[in-house]
Amino acid sequence: MPDLILQVDRAGRLLGYKLSGSFEAQISLADLVGHSIYPSLPEPAAEAFRLALADAESGESVAVPFEYRLVGETGGELIRELRAIAAEGDVFLLLIRDVTRQRASDQHVRLMATLFEHTTEGVVVCDGEWRVEAVNRAFVSITGYKAEEVTGSRLHPLDDKASLELRTELADELESGGAWRGELHARRKNGEFYPQWSTVSAVRGPDGAVSHYLQVFTDLSRRGPMTRRLGYLHHYDALTGLSNERLLLERLSKALAVAEREGGRVALLRFDFNCFRTVNDSLGYEVGDQILARVSERLRAVARMSDTCARLHADEFVLVLEDLKEGSPSAKAREILQQLREPFEIEGHEAVELEPCLGIALFPPDAGRADALLRNAGIARDRLKARHEGGFEYYSEELGTMALRRNQREQALRRAHEEHQLVLFYQPKVDVMTQAILGAEALLRWRHPSRGLVPPLDFVPLAEETGLILPIGEWVLEVACRQTQAWRDQGFPDLTIAVNLSPIQLQDERLLERVDGVLERTGLAPAALELEITESCLLEDLPGSLEILSAFRKRGIKISLDDFGTGHSSLSLLCQLPIDVLKIDKSFLDQIPSNHKERAILDAIVNMGHSLDMEVVAEGVEAADQLQALRESGCDQLQGYFFSRPVPAQDFKALLLSSRAQAARDEGTPPSI
Ligand code: C2E
Ligand code: MG
Ligand code: MG
Repeated sequence: MPDLILQVDRAGRLLGYKLSGSFEAQISLADLVGHSIYPSLPEPAAEAFRLALADAESGESVAVPFEYRLVGETGGELIRELRAIAAEGDVFLLLIRDVTRQRASDQHVRLMATLFEHTTEGVVVCDGEWRVEAVNRAFVSITGYKAEEVTGSRLHPLDDKASLELRTELADELESGGAWRGELHARRKNGEFYPQWSTVSAVRGPDGAVSHYLQVFTDLSRRGPMTRRLGYLHHYDALTGLSNERLLLERLSKALAVAEREGGRVALLRFDFNCFRTVNDSLGYEVGDQILARVSERLRAVARMSDTCARLHADEFVLVLEDLKEGSPSAKAREILQQLREPFEIEGHEAVELEPCLGIALFPPDAGRADALLRNAGIARDRLKARHEGGFEYYSEELGTMALRRNQREQALRRAHEEHQLVLFYQPKVDVMTQAILGAEALLRWRHPSRGLVPPLDFVPLAEETGLILPIGEWVLEVACRQTQAWRDQGFPDLTIAVNLSPIQLQDERLLERVDGVLERTGLAPAALELEITESCLLEDLPGSLEILSAFRKRGIKISLDDFGTGHSSLSLLCQLPIDVLKIDKSFLDQIPSNHKERAILDAIVNMGHSLDMEVVAEGVEAADQLQALRESGCDQLQGYFFSRPVPAQDFKALLLSSRAQAARDEGTPPSI
């Protein structure tokens, strides 16, 4: 029902009216009867009414939706709509509706939708079962998941690993009708973890049941959600005043579009520094920031006005050469490198010299999308870094495929770790004389769903390159110690366990803390743990290694030097280091006992180890005659297929039991003369 009907003549004079709905409260028209309605209408509306009256033919009713706004008596804005006009002879009926409320709620909905889409916070709307109904653009850009990939699936803010405490806290807060806020460790589609500041709340229907859950979050790894609100910082880096990643990508996209249209070329140069972290660590962030500001000045000096200079984050910078003429950007790259290799003089400090690493991607042929071009240049740069080189390198398709493959393997390994596909096998270490089992070495395996049992040499190097070895290594330590403690409790109280440590773990500042934590959690005595390291581990950072090895020894943990004889085997190194066990590598045994020279070397190593107070273990013993030779040389323990291959935990328990039975039999038999 229309809210207001006006009866007017062709000249617009009010003949009569009927008020209903909200109009009754808004206006009184009695005084207007007999007068023109036009002065009472805002100008555009008056004009529209005039035209409508002129157009209206007698006997027909026409819809003329026309919306107009006016200020009401109380000062608020009112929105009206002239909806239709009907003519009966010289009398016209105007149908007018008040749409103030409706428009306001439309606008509110639009505003909310805009906010939802454009806020920099990720937003997830779930139904009462935590199934995703909607996500916004920021969600997509933060997590890497497309809306269609998550819609309909369950997405609880806490993953399986969240503690019971946290779960209860969240549930309690939602139950009580409040919102839960806190920092979570969330994961992007590419597997990367990031700190997430989340607010989770429940929306209840009229019946009080939860109809929706709402999660709003920021990615704390992307700097400063606060500062972003300022328009400038939205596009520029606060420290250097260069473009930030957002503006860079915008400009780059435009440049690529132009190049594509006009057959031009674009080069993207992306660089950072080897070991910039050490500058921050040793001189402090303030000096680090000053150097970064200087870097940006030098970069700007090299760039042309039309080039975009940007800082992505930390010490990562980008220069985009648009409209690249003939020739290659190598000259520019050299110029930048030369500039950046000049020492940075910061007041009160010694001059700092840095080695830049620069990757270049070109369009064409490399990539037509801004983010891909940026990534490609990064791949080229990382390639240099992996070789511990400075200078510059061009991206090539081959590099891209390699990076992609590596990335896939990395993801697969990450998943393997999370989905418990990694398992430990145990290989016995036996007494050289009695062959009784004294301990075990824990050896990692990947139970791959399609490839079967994958040996560690096939994936440990990748784990080391990607840093995954840290969580994996800690897991190995924990599982091995827990298992050994279980065996010790089951009647093998003297059993020891040897765990391999990667050089990367040895460089981890928190290694000591982690090992302590594992021992505490598993209850294993430090003396039952042996950590196996290799010589190459030690050479990387000798003083640091010395320190950490001494700390282990102080706790009673044994250190064993693995694969002895394959590396540098420096005698002076051996004397300096607190090593308890020497593990002679299998390669030494291969030629024994046929080769006399090898025999002599073996004897010498065993003697040397003993005179340095070390136990000597031979690994890779496969044959009886090797056993004999090792016995004669005075070696203490043996490990190898001759006794047992590495086996799963339950099989190892069986080995332990049969070893004990054998020992009992041995004791019962009289010594042979
Ligand atoms: P490693 O520490 O020197 O381990 C001994 C390797 O020799 C094991 O190979 C073992 O299966 C093998 N082996 C033992 N007895 C014999 C034998 O009689 N004949 C032959 N041919 N081989 C024998 P595996 O398990 O493939 O491990 C290879 C290497 O992977 C290990 O060498 C170790 O360096 C590394 N690794 C294994 N587990 C871990 C781990 O948890 N963390 C780290 N960082 N490295 C690990
Ligand atoms: Mg080992
Ligand atoms: Mg070894």
